[in-house]
Amino acid sequence: MKIRIIDLLKTTTYNINVSVNGWVRTHRQSKNISFIAINDGSTVHNLQIVAEHEKIKKDFLKLVTTGSAIRVDGMFVLSTGNQQHGEIIAQNIVLYGTADPQEYPLQKKEHSLDFLRNIAHLRMRTNIFGAIFRVRHNLAFAIHKYFHEKGFFYFNTPIITTSDAEGAGKLFEVTTGDNQDFFGVPANLTVSGQLEGELGALGLGAIYTFGPTFRAENSNTYRHLAEFWMVEPEMAFIDINDNMDLAEDFLKYVIRYAIETCESDLIFLNNTVNSGLIERLHSVVNNKFVRLPYSQAIEILKQSNREFEIPILQGMDLNSEHERFLVEEYFCCPIIVTNYPKEIKAFYMKLNEDDKTVRAMDILFPQIGEIIGGSERESDYLKLRQRMEELGMNMKQLWWYLETRKFGTVPHAGFGLGFERLVLFVTGMSNIRDVIPFPRTPKNANF
Ligand code: ATP
Ligand code: MG
Ligand code: MG
Ligand code: MG
Repeated sequence: MKIRIIDLLKTTTYNINVSVNGWVRTHRQSKNISFIAINDGSTVHNLQIVAEHEKIKKDFLKLVTTGSAIRVDGMFVLSTGNQQHGEIIAQNIVLYGTADPQEYPLQKKEHSLDFLRNIAHLRMRTNIFGAIFRVRHNLAFAIHKYFHEKGFFYFNTPIITTSDAEGAGKLFEVTTGDNQDFFGVPANLTVSGQLEGELGALGLGAIYTFGPTFRAENSNTYRHLAEFWMVEPEMAFIDINDNMDLAEDFLKYVIRYAIETCESDLIFLNNTVNSGLIERLHSVVNNKFVRLPYSQAIEILKQSNREFEIPILQGMDLNSEHERFLVEEYFCCPIIVTNYPKEIKAFYMKLNEDDKTVRAMDILFPQIGEIIGGSERESDYLKLRQRMEELGMNMKQLWWYLETRKFGTVPHAGFGLGFERLVLFVTGMSNIRDVIPFPRTPKNANF
């Protein structure tokens, strides 16, 4: 019976014949016997293979080095050692591919994350990156599950677009090799699917997008990538308060899902990279997020007497050091900051009665800072037009967006979650380059 290691380690049926595939993690030889630990990527746990030299020739076993790929046929038995777990007594080993010990880079037990980043093509073979990408998968699945259960429709917005989505980020332009004017208009890779997502919500009621997003971020930070995945739900007939409730419920749901489905990966990450991880995850799902207006956040920062790199002024945009101070040192829990000054937020956000602030919400998380940005959208045609005029925007280009306010407009709202920031939080890693298989950052698009 061919079986994955994760399924084999769950069974309590012993003395059965099985076939297991995997890559060799360690190989220890004693006089008459070899102990080989293999991993097939299905779990963080390695499986021990016992190869008696009587059955499996020593000359052959010399080729079964760290990094090589094998199939083992044998009997799954309860280990006779003091730890009670299953292992395989090998009857036969098939060598798929060798790995020369002089050249294979993953010889040592532990490597620095920097080193592993330079071998992104092989880092999936380490326990740490196996754990990270399994967690990433489960979070992606939980996101679809959550919205599907809530009656949202998965809606695909274009990757090549003419919209710069309010200048959310610097654009990557799309041109053809011979510089033909392919689309007849300047086109770029999407920086956010929101404006098109609104069109979906204003017909289907509630939609979400989950796709790649591109911003030519010209700095190297722990939380910015040039290519990242964004989740953008958008809902008709709701206001900013419903939007906050949904975002909080959504984050707790997907984190709880990861806690439940990725237990051994999270324990591994907690024990190797971030010792407070599991406690932090539980704390986030079990406590209510604090909600406060922007003006109060600024007052708290001002009165903190902390020397920030960028000094605090009313009206400024918060950056990661301010956000993390509020979350990690002042409130000690996630917070939702609302009612930002209109000057630092996008044109489409709904203006409050004071005419100065907008119904925006940023959700700030420990270790991350901003994880979600959202708002109630301006649904009043005249107010939206006026704001666009004030900002000197090109009305002709966004005619389709304005028309949705002309015909059957309704209150609506939504938010954007940077998927990698969620994976960063849940895995406890500290650099966003380590939670996406092939990170794209300035001067780095090698793999
Ligand atoms: P930041 O202040 O960190 O630059 P932002 O306010 O520019 O983020 P938004 O335009 O609000 O980002 O985008 C929505 C969400 O997308 C953010 O809350 C964040 O989670 C994520 N995000 C934004 N830019 C990036 C990026 N370059 N790499 C990864 N995730 C990002
Ligand atoms: Mg930004
Ligand atoms: Mg921001
Ligand atoms: Mg934002």
